[in-house]
Amino acid sequence: MTTEDTMAGRLAQIQQRIADACTRAGRPPGDVVLLPVSKTFDVDAIREAMALGLSRFGENKTQEIRQKAAALAGQGLQWVLIGHLQTNKARDAARDATEVQSLDRPDLAEALHRRLQNEGRTLDVLVQVKTSSEPSKFGMAAEHVPAFLRLIATEYPTLHVKGLMTLAVNSPDPEQVRACFRALRELRDRLRAENIPGITLDRLSMGMSGDFELAIEEGSTEVRIGTAIFGARTYPDPQ
Ligand SMILES: *Cc1c(COP(=O)(O)O)cnc(C)c1O
Repeated sequence: MTTEDTMAGRLAQIQQRIADACTRAGRPPGDVVLLPVSKTFDVDAIREAMALGLSRFGENKTQEIRQKAAALAGQGLQWVLIGHLQTNKARDAARDATEVQSLDRPDLAEALHRRLQNEGRTLDVLVQVKTSSEPSKFGMAAEHVPAFLRLIATEYPTLHVKGLMTLAVNSPDPEQVRACFRALRELRDRLRAENIPGITLDRLSMGMSGDFELAIEEGSTEVRIGTAIFGARTYPDPQ
């Protein structure tokens, strides 16, 4: 049996590759957080991951978070929503998610804020930015992000913006992928210079199983890894 045959082996390998990428980029190992993406995998897979020390999981549907959180209640797990969120699901996200990384439009911010006020909660959020021209990808256009951050800072105090998130283009050309990550970092640097009160932009969530090393070289602070830890997904993953 090779290490790739077990989740423990795959996880150890990913952690090593993250550390190596940090070293190559001249960044301290430990600069980059791993977000294991458990979407489509069942609670047994999550239990296996928990036994390996993981407690924070990325999911792309509020419904799946609800079911898994109920099945694994009382164990201190954190559920991070990374998939497209419909406005009519804002209540579920406000109730069940620890964090939302896919905030990409004003009407969703408003709906989340309203629901969070009802729940008496606040929520850490990342603004999802579209850095590729693929029509299938969600995210706010970069030019709209400055005004969006100011809107959140003034109107929606339950939303705590911690950074930005993106998905790179699906391309065999690493330079095209890298350009997406670089665009997110450069946008972050420009936004930081604006010093919007209450908004911190320390986090850049970028990089997945197929491209996380490029993302780390371009400044990612959080990589979202599904298949490289949990194995191939057996049913489709609508974004
Ligand atoms: C599914 C998903 C991931 C993880 O993708 P893998 O290729 O399985 O690592 C990361 N980010 C988002 C937004 C996703 O939907």
